[in-house]
Amino acid sequence: PFAAGLIPAERATLDRILPGASVYHLDITLSDDLTHLSGREEVRYTNREDAPLPEVVFRLFPNLLGGKATVTNLTVNRQPAEPAFRLQESEMIVPLASPLAVGESVVIGMDFAVDVPTTAGSNYASFATLDGIAALAHFYPLIAVFDDEGWNAEIPPTYGDVVYADSSFYRVRVAAPAEVVLVASGVEAESRREGGTQTVTYAAGPVRDFYLAASPRYTRHSQTVGQTTLHSYAPDSVAASAEQALDYAADALRTFDARFGDYPFTELDLIATPTLAGGIEYPGVVVVALALYERRGDFFETATAHEVAHQWFYSVVGNDQVDDPWLDESLVQYATWLYYRDVHGATGDAGFRRVLEGYWNRAQHADTPIGLPVAAYTEEEYGAIVYGRGPLFFDALAQTIGQEAMDALLRDYYRTYQWDIATPEGLQQLAEAHCDCDLSPLFREWVFGEGE
Ligand SMILES: [Zn+2]
Repeated sequence: PFAAGLIPAERATLDRILPGASVYHLDITLSDDLTHLSGREEVRYTNREDAPLPEVVFRLFPNLLGGKATVTNLTVNRQPAEPAFRLQESEMIVPLASPLAVGESVVIGMDFAVDVPTTAGSNYASFATLDGIAALAHFYPLIAVFDDEGWNAEIPPTYGDVVYADSSFYRVRVAAPAEVVLVASGVEAESRREGGTQTVTYAAGPVRDFYLAASPRYTRHSQTVGQTTLHSYAPDSVAASAEQALDYAADALRTFDARFGDYPFTELDLIATPTLAGGIEYPGVVVVALALYERRGDFFETATAHEVAHQWFYSVVGNDQVDDPWLDESLVQYATWLYYRDVHGATGDAGFRRVLEGYWNRAQHADTPIGLPVAAYTEEEYGAIVYGRGPLFFDALAQTIGQEAMDALLRDYYRTYQWDIATPEGLQQLAEAHCDCDLSPLFREWVFGEGE
């Protein structure tokens, strides 16, 4: 079912990474008022690390985002298991009867129920039902990444993105009131209506996360670019902006396809939600604030291009968004700059440089390293340094190694880390391979700091 969501050139991915990637099966029901989810999750997890694992760790993000997620009837290979919880119940540790050997798999099953917040209190209202729009980010138990820190789980700051996850496959069946429009990562595999209920099955993958939105207010507008269909979902009151968003996204898709390599999926959804962020990225999904659809203006275009660029950097090439936010955010700001250069020429290029200088100026052009964890910055600094100074670092890198080497580097980076997780050291090594030079001084000056 996953091949339909991938452009032909990417279908070989299924054979290449399917054997080890986690496979999630979710079967959920969304309540009539769009504020409760309940259902069942079964996930096949394979140990792709280099040591046996005595436990598997899940994140329950609703418990950090103003909602509530509970898990019952947990099983491991159909045997009952007792989970432990940490980090304000946002971390669920599933003990295994015996350590999972390298290359071996387990099937973990559970029932889960989720209360969705109905106020905008937390993390930009990324997870909330407001004004008849349900934005259901990270609503289900999601397996954490096992990396050099072990199971990597922490409580992220209230600003910045929260998810750090491996590329996986999802088959998700959603039962919802018949009158709402459902939007999700991946493609629709099956759909039927019975009485007041619609049941839609989605196939998504490889993706790091599965996003779902629902609203009776949405109307769909579509446009095709190359091998990908863009769908825009927004209320009728902003129909003209929805068409505009499609045009911005189409230009962005063409720019980034040409510069970095093809967007891998056959579908990309643009969704207007009441988020308090300008926009937020999810695999196969771009959320832009409804407020920007209403106001229009320059930031509407910037936010749309920025979130589309995240499909390359965050979604396909992953990173630890909590500890290395610059790897996606600073690079995506640089990609947005390239969008302005390609779509609007010299004026766009100069204009967006001023925008970035303006961001950095909020921290008085301080030479604070761009490569720190989100928590090391105040919210103000985070915007100024990671979104302002960060893209100016990538420009300095391009000046140092030459634009041609920079273009080749970004294509290589996209291909090398496709479906995988990039690291700051990996990016530096790849850049040094492209210039055949030592970039340590430049990375110290901009990224890591002079502290060593
Ligand atoms: Zn971003």
